[in-house]
Amino acid sequence: MLDAMPLTLLATNVLFLLVSALVWAALSQVLHASHRPALLLALANALLAASLGGNAMRGLAWDWLAYWGANLMAIAAFALMRQAVPAMMGERTPWWPTALLLALCAVLLAAVPFGSSWLPIINFGAMGLLTLVCAVDAWRRLRRHARAGLALALASPLFLVAALLLLRLALLLSGHNTHLRDADDGNLAWLWAVLLMSLVLNATLAFLVLMRLILRIRRLTERDALTDALNRRAFGELLAAEHGQLGRGRSHALVVLDIDHFKRINDSLGHAGGDAALRHLVQVLQACLREADQLGRLGGEEFGVLLPLSDLPGALCAAERMRAALQARPLEWQGQRVDMTASFGVAVAVADDIDPEALMLRADQAMYRAKAAGRNRVEF
Ligand code: GH3
Ligand code: MG
Ligand code: MG
Repeated sequence: MLDAMPLTLLATNVLFLLVSALVWAALSQVLHASHRPALLLALANALLAASLGGNAMRGLAWDWLAYWGANLMAIAAFALMRQAVPAMMGERTPWWPTALLLALCAVLLAAVPFGSSWLPIINFGAMGLLTLVCAVDAWRRLRRHARAGLALALASPLFLVAALLLLRLALLLSGHNTHLRDADDGNLAWLWAVLLMSLVLNATLAFLVLMRLILRIRRLTERDALTDALNRRAFGELLAAEHGQLGRGRSHALVVLDIDHFKRINDSLGHAGGDAALRHLVQVLQACLREADQLGRLGGEEFGVLLPLSDLPGALCAAERMRAALQARPLEWQGQRVDMTASFGVAVAVADDIDPEALMLRADQAMYRAKAAGRNRVEF
């Protein structure tokens, strides 16, 4: 007797996978930065739907399609997912190990007879392995962007799916039924598990895409597009946050600097040369700073450096280090060496400062004194 329950579950699974495929295909058109991984995932979902459908047709359709084709499509879907996850984080991973595994499975699946117990070993072994590799890879990459606990939490659904696939393999080897149309408890549980896995996998992958999008937007709103230094607003917010800590015995310093005779650089090298000079300055200054120090572009060729937990001698020392580094490393532009210097003003926050602007004003005034005193120097 044909039972309605497994068929309903099968149809639900296939439908969910097809809808997921459509959603990823649509997302690939909208999310430019994640275009390729979204397309890979659309294809992976479609392949899984086809694989489930083919698998359910065993005994009704051609054997090579219902066995060899269905198994290979499922492995290919997990192979695509394995490749999509690093791509989602904007990184590349070589294709050949995955392609080699897929080719090996294609040959092995063709070599064993339909209904052999080797079939699930190859099939679920490959899918479990691909998911496990994908999970470890995602976890290691996420650890570079997030705290260890959060990275593990984000990668844990992938580990869960790998575990479920390997558990299914163990159950099949211990003699469980493999027929997707049957209404026995083991098969129904598996169909529910497949639905759960599809949900969890797609949700996790969508979250990873969303996370990348948020990080990108944050970068765009906080960074200056030309130099990648903090923009004026983000720098101002950090300055205000430090100002809020003043009462607690923490003191910070601010260095304001302005490139000397920048108009001349612009006039002799052109605007593109001037832009290169700004990027060069940021590179040189970043190399002089501690991890906690923050560099921001205040506007034009004027920059600010926030030095948390710094007193006047420390801040003067940092400013002098930046001044000397800039003088020692001329800009290389289209085969020319162009000398570049800047004038620096240093100020230290005091408890009397009513707002961060007061500190900014003192640093600015000191910078103008450095200009007036002949440029390429540090004043406070
Ligand atoms: P001073 O030593 O007195 O600071 O001389 P200066 O030539 O640097 O004087 P000023 O600050 O008046 O000139 C700044 C110039 O910077 C004017 C403007 O054309 C140029 N500038 C501002 N923003 C950019 C930018 O994003 N790219 C380029 N290439 N030039 C810029
Ligand atoms: Mg200037
Ligand atoms: Mg200026």
